[in-house]
Amino acid sequence: MTDKPDIHRIIRSHLTAKALFDQARSHAFEYMDTLHDRPVYPSPETLENLSVFDEPLPDAMGDPEKFLALLHEYGSPATVAQTGNRYFGFVNGGVTPAAVAAKWLADVWDQNAGLFVMSPIAARLEAVCERWLVDLFELPETTRAGFVSGTSSATLCGLAAARNFLLARAGWDVHQKGLNKAPELKVVLGEEAHSTVFKALSLLGFGLDNLIRVKTDGQGRMKASDLPNLDAATLVIAQAGNVNTGAFDPFHEICGKAQKARAWVHIDGAFGLWAQGSENTKHLTGGIEKADSWSVDAHKTLNAPYDCGIVLCRDESALVSALQNTGAYIQYGQHRDSMLYTPEMSRRARSVELWATLKCFGRKGIENLVDGLCNNARLFAQELEKQEFHILNDIHFNQVLVSCGDDALTQAVLAEIQSGGVCWCGGSVWKGRSVIRISVCSWATSAQDVHMSVKAFVDARTRALSKQTKKESK
Ligand SMILES: *Cc1c(COP(=O)(O)O)cnc(C)c1O
Repeated sequence: MTDKPDIHRIIRSHLTAKALFDQARSHAFEYMDTLHDRPVYPSPETLENLSVFDEPLPDAMGDPEKFLALLHEYGSPATVAQTGNRYFGFVNGGVTPAAVAAKWLADVWDQNAGLFVMSPIAARLEAVCERWLVDLFELPETTRAGFVSGTSSATLCGLAAARNFLLARAGWDVHQKGLNKAPELKVVLGEEAHSTVFKALSLLGFGLDNLIRVKTDGQGRMKASDLPNLDAATLVIAQAGNVNTGAFDPFHEICGKAQKARAWVHIDGAFGLWAQGSENTKHLTGGIEKADSWSVDAHKTLNAPYDCGIVLCRDESALVSALQNTGAYIQYGQHRDSMLYTPEMSRRARSVELWATLKCFGRKGIENLVDGLCNNARLFAQELEKQEFHILNDIHFNQVLVSCGDDALTQAVLAEIQSGGVCWCGGSVWKGRSVIRISVCSWATSAQDVHMSVKAFVDARTRALSKQTKKESK
């Protein structure tokens, strides 16, 4: 029996001494302070070093002081410097120190946000965030929010609410009867809808072959004039912010037509819904208030920490009945029971960081944040054009699509940018052409960072061209 560790004594000693937390803090501070002196993407060597983590499940209890140090020594350099100033990959946001600090505190709380009785503070902050978001986005007063991991999950919830509501109105209780023999619903979406929308539709049993895909214009916006006939058994999915161009669907027209037909409209506004937060971009989101459900990320444009997405639904009972887990008649408690609005039961209290982020920025700060991202995207486009790169989209919001002329050169330049370490962008395909996709998503990016990054583009092109000439002369 002597070889059994006394876990109570050992773990209690970690708790009493608190040295681990000081150690973690010191590693974290070093990480923050050296973020600007390292390549944005980890070097091949640091990635190879990750093999130190490959070991069988250890038998003995570990010494946290040693493995925290290991995590910092090998883990920190193998992170992507996404919280720095020059990460432009995918559509990923930065993070504010205020929210990270609040999250540290909440990590120590380790709350389960499923029910009010499990965590009154998490429930209260969810209620506050819900009110603030409905106010900021100017959505109908009845709108309720579910706090989920991201827009993928938020879209799934919104579309589940739509499906159940539309079928219930047609006299079909999908919760009890399932989809076999259910009345048919029409699903209408733009051909440029995000991949996660297709995933959600597939999970919900709609079948990708059954969707009506509406043509889009040169910027990826749904052509409202091409909408099919809508009726009371139609679900329309529109988009605020195309992941490539950043363009917004024409909501006034789409929602106007849908309202007349009593169709349900869901808006995927993962990063674009925040356009509503600035007077300068609000025209892009005009009409969203006429939709029925919305999905949005706080971890993109708003710069809240991962993972933080929100589903918003005008009709509380539609959302709750789609996400119920008992099938029993819905009972609203006196307090907010968060699991009524999410697919999960147990969940961490992500409302803490969301609340801290919203409180840190305030309305004015959000406006400045959104304007800053848009201004830097425009600056990128202007400066790159001066350097004879081709910009393939209009700058609607924070996205810039860059081509170097032919696809082979574009891809070669992208590879040079990615290995160069000054900044990081991803690649994409737009209207059949390879592009470098710039997504300006962090509060931390300054005009100076844009200039440095444009120079990195120019240098990358020089290197790519010289490699091409060498190959040709061989
Ligand atoms: C990022 C994104 C999603 C997916 O959101 P996650 O938070 O990654 O789940 C959906 N739609 C659009 C338009 C996006 O940009």
